[in-house]
Amino acid sequence: MNTKIKAGIIGATGMVGQMFIKLLENHPWFDVTYLAASASSAGKTYSQAVQGRWHVSSEVPSYVRDLMVEDASNVEKAIGKCSFVFCAVSLGKDEVKALETLYASRGFAVVSANSAYRLTPDVPMLIPEINYEHVNIIPVQQKNNGWDKGFIAVKPNCSIQSYMIPLHALMAKGYKIKQMTLVTLQGLSGAGYPGPSAFDLIDNIVPLIKGEEEKSEIEPQKIFGSIKDGQIVNDTSILMSAHCTRVPVIDGHTVCVNVQFEGKKPSESEIIDCWKNYRSVPRELGLPSAPENTIIYKEEADRPQPRKDRDNGNGMAITVGRLRPCNVFDYRFVGLSHNTNRGAAGGAILMAELLVSKGFIKA
Ligand code: NAP
Repeated sequence: MNTKIKAGIIGATGMVGQMFIKLLENHPWFDVTYLAASASSAGKTYSQAVQGRWHVSSEVPSYVRDLMVEDASNVEKAIGKCSFVFCAVSLGKDEVKALETLYASRGFAVVSANSAYRLTPDVPMLIPEINYEHVNIIPVQQKNNGWDKGFIAVKPNCSIQSYMIPLHALMAKGYKIKQMTLVTLQGLSGAGYPGPSAFDLIDNIVPLIKGEEEKSEIEPQKIFGSIKDGQIVNDTSILMSAHCTRVPVIDGHTVCVNVQFEGKKPSESEIIDCWKNYRSVPRELGLPSAPENTIIYKEEADRPQPRKDRDNGNGMAITVGRLRPCNVFDYRFVGLSHNTNRGAAGGAILMAELLVSKGFIKA
């Protein structure tokens, strides 16, 4: 790419926003030129705005330290500064919709980590390895809204790639999944900052993350769905049942999966072979954030583990392990991915790269 594309980050001061800042330093395609957050951060330099609440292990990168943070509701400030925006804000559903619609209506591509538009039939919810073809709904969305350039594309919930990509690898080989159960063990950073109190989390497990089980069961239906008559129609053929829990881990969402196939059933070695040789479309397209190996299968009996495996593939790989027969269904396994990286900022950057390669985001 000869000219880098100018990118904005809305919610730049938050948990996910900080990960965007880290991952976009020296990005080969994107230059961060616009930062926005709530009115309380507006008017401060980025380093002032995150003082005392910078959670990334390295220092605030020099490229953003002196960049002014704008009030996200003042879209005029973004005009002329960037071609598209990433968006990750802690607001109610209606407020997120209003904010993202505002930017799309003013000609920005909005690449969102928020959940507000995930189930809207003309909004693609992308895991680039799986449903990259859903980008083709964008012209329909633009027509429905009367937008010539702007549009909204969203990424799914922060834990679902931990099981969706391993399942997709098997489905792509012709194995049909009948039903599955999953238990998530979700890290603390998934709740944003400051999240649950230390008193609630230390020496404890909280067996409820409000709304998360519904997302874990419904969002896969849209991702496995297809475009029909100008909308994305869900594939409801897989029966899913989820338990979602919050655990005292800083980063990393682990998922224990039990799965039953319909008809032809793979052997254990066929499953491992399929995961190890998974063909990744983002990798084939040369997207810079696509890891060399999207799925990493760990042979050790006690892996994956969040502390040891969440940064595999620069935090973009899905690590799986503990594949074994199930006494109730066919097999069980454990999947893990980094929630603020692959599950949020990294996943959104991969989406933006896909949208560039398909011609939807331009300089
Ligand atoms: P967070 O740490 O609480 O950060 C929230 C961000 O939203 C801050 O930058 C905050 O700005 C900004 N904000 C608050 N009110 C605003 C307003 N009125 N206008 C503009 N910006 C406003 O939350 P987070 O964990 O980063 O999550 C952000 C979004 O990403 C949520 O929708 C969440 O569901 C989603 N998500 C999170 C994860 C994860 O692992 N954490 C994963 C996937 C998706 P100030 O600093 O100025 O208040």
